[in-house]
Amino acid sequence: MTLELVTLPALSDNYTYLLHDSESGQTACIDVPEAEPILSELASRGWSLNEIWLTHHHHDHIGGVDDLLKHHDAKVTGAKADRHRLPRLNREVADGDAFEFGGEVVEILDVSGHTVGHIAFVLPKSGYAFTADSLMALGCGRLFEGTAAQMWNSLQKLAALDPSTIICSGHEYTQANARFAITIDPENIDLKDRIERINSKRDSNEPTVPSKLSDEVATNPFLRAADPAIQAHLDMIGAEPVEVFAEIRARKDRF
Ligand code: ZN
Ligand code: FE
Repeated sequence: MTLELVTLPALSDNYTYLLHDSESGQTACIDVPEAEPILSELASRGWSLNEIWLTHHHHDHIGGVDDLLKHHDAKVTGAKADRHRLPRLNREVADGDAFEFGGEVVEILDVSGHTVGHIAFVLPKSGYAFTADSLMALGCGRLFEGTAAQMWNSLQKLAALDPSTIICSGHEYTQANARFAITIDPENIDLKDRIERINSKRDSNEPTVPSKLSDEVATNPFLRAADPAIQAHLDMIGAEPVEVFAEIRARKDRF
């Protein structure tokens, strides 16, 4: 049995997630852009919140924590490296750490790049990875603090997870990411198919996240810097993948 996952839009284009274990009644929330949508979802389901897991320090991921804690006595988990710029933590974690939730192991991966100290929460049994602004649907976060090498390394770790892993990322940026992706990988049939699915979802106002890791590996240009067709298209045949990644990231910044 897998944990129940609820995807909630928040603010203008963020996502927050609830994970619920029906056996123990435990509920975790991953990132808190704002409290209100989380509070109403918890109320409508009759759940109380036990845990808050924070991926990184940006306000659109932590801004609602204090409000949420006024209503729910939840334990807050975040990166030890970022304790000085996160809400008060009850559990400090680092790369390679693990803890238990709802009868499952939750593994911590350092996925620095967007920020230094950004972490991902991975639940191998249910097959969920909460990646926020590291690996995103058809994209990856902008490099505000880390280097291209750090982000490439982080994306490689995520790409090595089981291909069926559900990637729960932080924003609804997929359509804009798709417009860029096709300029990098114009002959990719899987990408073209995916863009059609994305556009029809957005036309009916449906979320395009979470997404499947195998779809990201097949279509996300930021994971495909070693792909011969992309390297040829960028006139970078034989270059180190990290250099190709850096070029793709730089083009996206200018796009
Ligand atoms: Zn961010
Ligand atoms: Fe964000």
